Amino acid sequence: MSSKKVALITGASRGIGKSIAIELAKNNIDIIINYNRDEKEAEEVVKEIKKLGVGGEAIKADVSSFDDCTAMFGAVKKKYGNLDILVNNAGALSDKTLKNMTKEQWDFVIKINLTGVFNVTKNALPLVNGGGRIINISSIVGLTGNFGQTNYAASKAGIIGFTKSLAKELGKRKITVNAVAPGFIDTQMTKSVPFIRKKIIMAMIPLGRAGLPEDIANLVGFLASDKASYITGEVICVDGGFSF
Ligand code: NAD
Repeated sequence: MSSKKVALITGASRGIGKSIAIELAKNNIDIIINYNRDEKEAEEVVKEIKKLGVGGEAIKADVSSFDDCTAMFGAVKKKYGNLDILVNNAGALSDKTLKNMTKEQWDFVIKINLTGVFNVTKNALPLVNGGGRIINISSIVGLTGNFGQTNYAASKAGIIGFTKSLAKELGKRKITVNAVAPGFIDTQMTKSVPFIRKKIIMAMIPLGRAGLPEDIANLVGFLASDKASYITGEVICVDGGFSF
C-alpha cells in the first residue's frame, strides 16, 4: 500500500472530473478515476496521471446504482485500505420545462446527480480517514434556479443540503464536507447550448468568459489540501461573477 493520500473522483474520464484528477495528482495524491461508460477515455486519464509520478487506476461504476458503488468501494478497500479525498463530480442533464418534462427525465437526473451522491458517499464513508475531505460538485443553478432545469436545479440544491448536513455530522472526525458551485464551464455538458444563448450568458458574466475545467479544479485542489482544514459546510461559487 502507498503512503500517499488517495482520492476518488466520480465521473472523471473527461471534463471537470478529469481536470480535478490531474490537479490532485499534481499535488502528489494517488488517484482513482471512476467512470461509467468511457473506459478508453478513463484509461487515457490514468496514463496522464501516472506521468505525474503518482498511482492511478480506473474503476467502472454507475453512481446511480447502490450495488455498483458498494462493489467499487469494496475494491478500493482491498487495494488501498482507506480513502482521504472523495469528489462527487459525476452528473448529467435532461432539460425541459416542467410542462414538457417526463417522469423518466426527472428520475434520470435525480438518480445520477443526487441519489448518486448518496450512493457514493454512503459506501465511501467507512473508508474515509479522519481529517479527510468530501467535495461535492453542485452548480450555481442549485442556488438560482434556471429555466428548463427543474430536475437539474433540484438535484444540485439537494447536494447543498446534503453537504451542509454531512459537514455537521462529520466535524467531530475532522472530515470537511464542502460544495463547489460552478457557473458556465466549457465542457461536453455545455456544448449543446445554442450559440445565441451562449452569447447572452457571456454578456451576463462580469469576467466575460466561460469557465474552464481548471478553474474548478484549482478550488477543489485547495479544498482537498491541508490549508483548507478549517472550511466546512460551505458552498463556493466559481462562476466569473455570474450569480451574484
Ligand atoms: P461532463 O458531461 O463532461 O462530465 C460528467 C461526467 O459524469 C462524465 O464523465 C460522465 O460520464 C459522468 N457520469 C454521468 N453519469 C454517470 C453515472 N451514472 N455514473 C458515473 N459517472 C457518470 O460535464 P462536466 O461539465 O465536466 O460536469 C461535471 C460536474 O460539474 C457535473 O456534476 C455537472 O453537473 C457539474 N457542473 C457543470 C457545469 C458546466 O457548466 N459544465 C456547471 C455547473 C455544474
